[in-house]
Amino acid sequence: MKTKREIWQCVEGCGACCNLDPSDRPDLEDYLTPEELEHYLSLVGEDGWCIHFDHETRKCLIYEQRPRFCRVQPDTFEAMYDIDSSDFNEFAIDCCRQQIEGVYGAKSPEMKHYNRGITQYNSPK
Ligand code: SF4
Ligand code: SF4
Repeated sequence: MKTKREIWQCVEGCGACCNLDPSDRPDLEDYLTPEELEHYLSLVGEDGWCIHFDHETRKCLIYEQRPRFCRVQPDTFEAMYDIDSSDFNEFAIDCCRQQIEGVYGAKSPEMKHYNRGITQYNSPK
């Protein structure tokens, strides 16, 4: 029987977490250092999107130099949210879904695209 599992990944054509509107993230101070919070706020454009987000391609214009708080990876999540690496996958998927729901909607094409992107099927050998 085929089994299904979800493996976190950042899917192309999303960008939901680059919407930085602080009013949607009231707990920023809980996981950012004061310097990071200052940096974070300096990135927020008038429309709430990061000033480095390219809306056309939905990509980060400074990807290699993006700040720590933009990096969805086990060591960052452990440092920022105290998430054990064994819980990273589930936690990161939840974060993406929450962000995608808030920005594009729970039934948006982006959410469907995300769910397809993280789903893997394994066939028995
Ligand atoms: S919300 Fe998740 S899938 Fe979308 S851009 Fe951010 S990390 Fe990638
Ligand atoms: S720096 Fe890049 S990854 Fe971070 S929020 Fe801005 S556009 Fe997104």
